[in-house]
Amino acid sequence: MGNELKGTKEGIERARILDIPVDMVDYDSALACFRKFMEREGCDMIVTPNSEIVVNATKDPALKDLIEHASLIIPDGIGLVKAAKIKHLPLHDRVTGVDFLTLILGELESTGKSIFLLGSKPENEERASVADLAAAAMKEKFPGLIVAGTNDGYFKAADEPALVKKINDSGADFLCVALGSPKQEKFIYEHAAEFTSVKAAIGVGGTLDVWAGTVKRAPEFWQKHGIEWLYRFLKEPVRFKRVLQLPVFMAKVIASK
Ligand code: UDP
Repeated sequence: MGNELKGTKEGIERARILDIPVDMVDYDSALACFRKFMEREGCDMIVTPNSEIVVNATKDPALKDLIEHASLIIPDGIGLVKAAKIKHLPLHDRVTGVDFLTLILGELESTGKSIFLLGSKPENEERASVADLAAAAMKEKFPGLIVAGTNDGYFKAADEPALVKKINDSGADFLCVALGSPKQEKFIYEHAAEFTSVKAAIGVGGTLDVWAGTVKRAPEFWQKHGIEWLYRFLKEPVRFKRVLQLPVFMAKVIASK
């Protein structure tokens, strides 16, 4: 199975793990790419695969194809770091979507560029929409951040043209999509050419829930030891099928060596 490193346009080394491309980046080099995306025409797609998404992509040609077309593929999971070690690839640590988004928010604030938050649950009797709560929390941490607009993630295919118009009318420079994988990546890929102001878009899974406080991120101890997945499993045992993907992934990597 291919393991060669290829350079991307931004000079990043792009490796293949289970024949799925993954960029050998750290937070600094990923942010440097982001800055380039914000300066050029068109919408660049950032994807944040973990081992589960990589396994899914080996079985879903459409998902694999869109990852191949991403401008930046950050290694969001301890499984990918371990796989890189086994394959002697130059990846030293993971770059999580949650932490990378926080860096992006700081960058947007300091450059006066705006964000549109798309995804997660709509409002209910007890609270505002998760995207609005996340926007408020982001603005608390980054007071100069411009949130151009928000929308929940429970729309129908027929609503998508109106949603794309809403994003375009907002004039947002950056789009953050939290619909879960692969829905979020497919949404970005399908509509990237229709965006008129968005220069880059990222799929962030449950990150808006973390900002909104509707889901708690694992405490630092679990994050540091690379067992955030175990914490989420203990909190939400219904995820057991998803957690099982990690040993499946490791077994496949070892078998492909
Ligand atoms: N979601 C959504 N629309 C959908 C399905 C899911 O907006 O049709 C949201 C869901 O509310 C949650 C996020 O997508 O905020 C996915 O979270 P999950 O924990 O599954 O993401 P992961 O980070 O594990 O990919």
